[in-house]
Amino acid sequence: MSTINWEQLSSISSRKYVCGYCNNPLASNRGYFGHDTNSPVINNTFIYICHQCNKPTFFDISGNQTPCTTYGEEINDISSEEVALLYNEARNCMGRRAYTAVVLCCRKLLMNIAVSKGAKKGLSFIEYVKYLSDQNYIPPDAKDWVDHIRNKGNEANHEISIMKKEDAEDLINFIGTLLKIIYEFPSVIKQRISGAQKP
Ligand SMILES: [Zn+2]
Repeated sequence: MSTINWEQLSSISSRKYVCGYCNNPLASNRGYFGHDTNSPVINNTFIYICHQCNKPTFFDISGNQTPCTTYGEEINDISSEEVALLYNEARNCMGRRAYTAVVLCCRKLLMNIAVSKGAKKGLSFIEYVKYLSDQNYIPPDAKDWVDHIRNKGNEANHEISIMKKEDAEDLINFIGTLLKIIYEFPSVIKQRISGAQKP
């Protein structure tokens, strides 16, 4: 596998972070430093090189990390490729602080999940939510969550309001839980049962 040989790397003050490329937690003291002239403090911006994948991560004057880590839990065994791609897209948007995009992605995800579970194409968003609920894919106590997603999705769609980080986090967490219930748990138990039946 190819790698990057960085020229003139310095030893800089060590920083702990989770690499946005390979998702490994690490402490690195290899990289470059610079001076953002917004502050009199010298050496206030940094680029760190990851030990694992050798890729560069930028930390601005406020300590904001770019690229940041992918947000949300990884869910296995999502049988619909479209749903899996959209969920990853939402998680990646989170890493780029594109919170309105996350909310819109989550709204579309709910529609795609419904279609992958047998709903007709071309229905309205509300009809898809109702479908998932009627088919008992959404636990009764989580109904408030669905209303929340619907409201947030509508806001992002129609009023062009910019979504906050917490809105986006809430929605990714909810969708992650839903994906776990709908795809991951059934697949795990199927594997257990088929394993137990083998002689
Ligand atoms: Zn890395």
